[in-house]
Amino acid sequence: MKTDSPPGAAAVSRTLRGLGVSPGIAIGPAHIVESGAVRVPEYALQADQIDAEVERFADACGKARRQIRKLKTKALVLPESASEEIGILMDAHLAMLTNSRLTRGVERRIREEAVNAEAAVQAEIAVIAETFAAMGDAYLAARVDDVREVGRRVIRALMRHEYQAFALLPPGTVILAEELTPADTALIDPRHVAGFATVLGGAEGHTAIMARSLGVPAVLGVAGLLTGVRHGTQVVVDGVNGRVVIDPTPEELAEYARRRTERQKEREKLKTLKRLPAVTRDATSVVLQANLELPRDLDNALDSGAQGVGLLRTEFMFMNRDDLPDEDEQYGLLRAIVEGMGGRPVTARTFDVGGEKLAGWMTGRYTEPANPALGLRAIRLGLREPKLLETQLAAMLRAGAHGPLRILLPMICSVAEVQTVREMIANVARRLRRRGVPIADPLPPVGVMVEVPGAALSADALSYAADFFAIGTNDLTQYTLAIDRGDEQVASLYDPLHPAVLRLIQFTVEAALRARIPVSVCGEIAGDPRHTALLLGLGIRELSMAPLAIPMVKRRIRAMDLMEATRRARVIMDQSDSGRIAALLDDFNATA
Ligand code: PEP
Ligand code: MG
Repeated sequence: MKTDSPPGAAAVSRTLRGLGVSPGIAIGPAHIVESGAVRVPEYALQADQIDAEVERFADACGKARRQIRKLKTKALVLPESASEEIGILMDAHLAMLTNSRLTRGVERRIREEAVNAEAAVQAEIAVIAETFAAMGDAYLAARVDDVREVGRRVIRALMRHEYQAFALLPPGTVILAEELTPADTALIDPRHVAGFATVLGGAEGHTAIMARSLGVPAVLGVAGLLTGVRHGTQVVVDGVNGRVVIDPTPEELAEYARRRTERQKEREKLKTLKRLPAVTRDATSVVLQANLELPRDLDNALDSGAQGVGLLRTEFMFMNRDDLPDEDEQYGLLRAIVEGMGGRPVTARTFDVGGEKLAGWMTGRYTEPANPALGLRAIRLGLREPKLLETQLAAMLRAGAHGPLRILLPMICSVAEVQTVREMIANVARRLRRRGVPIADPLPPVGVMVEVPGAALSADALSYAADFFAIGTNDLTQYTLAIDRGDEQVASLYDPLHPAVLRLIQFTVEAALRARIPVSVCGEIAGDPRHTALLLGLGIRELSMAPLAIPMVKRRIRAMDLMEATRRARVIMDQSDSGRIAALLDDFNATA
């Protein structure tokens, strides 16, 4: 039986829909991520710090209000009664954050008691909750939890982040949360966590990418996920079809267990491809490389037969910490990956921090941008903070002494940016040599991520400044179509098969071929066998993807005739409608 069960009712199976972002089936007890389990810092303020602290509190309230509005919108897709109920609740939460007893009380405490905002919120919440509880009014008593929840939300916003302790979960747990950041997801250990589902998040955001990389089934953007579910409730996460089943019936459980076993067998079968070459039926070789999110992905990359690392996202070095990794630490991490790949090339991308991949040390240093994806991220941040970028470049040059390493620059928009980084590399190399530190010799090739439409359209000019191109279709799609890749509300509009995106890919590939520089695709479409024929048909011969996707893409390549794929790509590039493009591609995949 499927129904929306009211909280506290006897368990009945409930199926919820979301975005299946990482395939696989997880079955296990739910662990609900509490928004509030944080240790609140307490400290005294100097008189001249008080105004800034009041402002910091106001910013945190603004952030909390934005989160609540987002949750309210999300609930609109639920059945009317549930949506109305959540709407009323969220309105009450919003009211508590807008010139309310809470906000006035906190501000007064910061000013009169000279304490930090987190401590002031905690103290004020305790007093309000106590007053409500003491009034003997059942309605107000029931609001105590709401007051606490709002308080926790503001504290979390003040502290910006909270490092999750997923390592302590028993094996087979399914995590349910309002939202998991990429940094939270980095802490997930697949030996403990069978899968996860969240209320917020889109299919191409970094949380989704991280889930695919870990091979952990995940469904994001699930409205109503946390309503009426408790710790320990049995849950199924179906990452293939984008379903979450709360309290499945025995029949449903048996069916999902059967499907899980089938998928495991399929994965075993694919392993037999490891030592076979990625070559088309008409004898064209394709290079298949791995995208690494975290050093631990290295084992998966080697296991799946990756011919190198096409994209090492170095953001992991900056996650879940408040300080910065120094040159030696970064060098150690990079060297281990270069040596681990045993002579196969490693493409290390300079940090793409900013945007949704905020690092703790940025807190307070930069104001939170209204449009993070368009703000101070990636190479822009590196050029604004040259010391930071130089430290990483030095670590890369040193790691390059231990095996082939290429340097990749994210979010490049202009030739001038590439030239500036090249000059930095030359200066850093000079300094290191003077100190007698061994570095890559010759200096590593410097590549450009083509992921901004402006870069794709200037691919001709960039091809003279760059030693190689890596096309980042995740951002390229986001920026070309103006669709936030991490927002589940516009996920249905996110379409890498849109003719505009394909033309930008084609333009970039042609510029690279003319300049005779290597070009790869390292966005998520590279790991989807559905897109392989089109990418090869457009002239791509290097793909970099989540390690676990390599065998599937290899199987597709080995079954394909490149001449036929090229012909089909030509037909596709004449189309103006992405639905037609998808149909032509699916038809080709079904027959060739
Ligand atoms: C991309 O944008 O396609 C890409 C590979 O980079 P990231 O997903 O890290 O932004
Ligand atoms: Mg990108």
